[in-house]
Amino acid sequence: MTAIAVYPGSFDPVTNGHLDIIERSAKVFDKVVVAVLHNRNKVPLFSVEERVAMLKESTAYISNTEVDSFNGLLIDYIREKNARTIVRGLRAVSDFEYEMQAASINRKLDPDIETFFMMTNNQYSYLSSSIVKEVAKYEANVQDLVPASVQKALRQKYSHLTDEK
Ligand code: ADP
Repeated sequence: MTAIAVYPGSFDPVTNGHLDIIERSAKVFDKVVVAVLHNRNKVPLFSVEERVAMLKESTAYISNTEVDSFNGLLIDYIREKNARTIVRGLRAVSDFEYEMQAASINRKLDPDIETFFMMTNNQYSYLSSSIVKEVAKYEANVQDLVPASVQKALRQKYSHLTDEK
């Protein structure tokens, strides 16, 4: 039996913290599907297509990963992918409450699907996509926070702000 895990999220944009979770979970599971969620409740900076492209580029070196996007209920998507596990990263206590709720409801919807939590690497515990966007907006260096392709994409997205100065 192939152990397939799905790592869902907004990835707006992917950070080195996400990549660390992807790399580590790829050592635990036979295959990791990184799935970008079409989230209608959040206004994203990058389109789903842009987020998928950045993830594909930055995970190309990990052979047992696949990048995809999905709409609707996570549990339905997990079944569609023949996966049995959801991977989530935990940074701080503040992540815990939401993650516990999500894991509980997903277990209720399908008791055969397990949520697998991975603690962040300490060096990324402060890192989030929102912080990266905030910092990049002011042209600060995000070099150690995101892969090179994301750094370039952020510069392009925010170049109009610089031009307006
Ligand atoms: P969501 O909108 O689902 O919170 P994110 O893209 O922000 O999407 O995060 C996806 C997953 O990655 C979540 O489980 C989140 O806790 C985890 N994650 C985000 N940043 C980090 C990090 N720096 N270290 C470890 N896990 C992280």
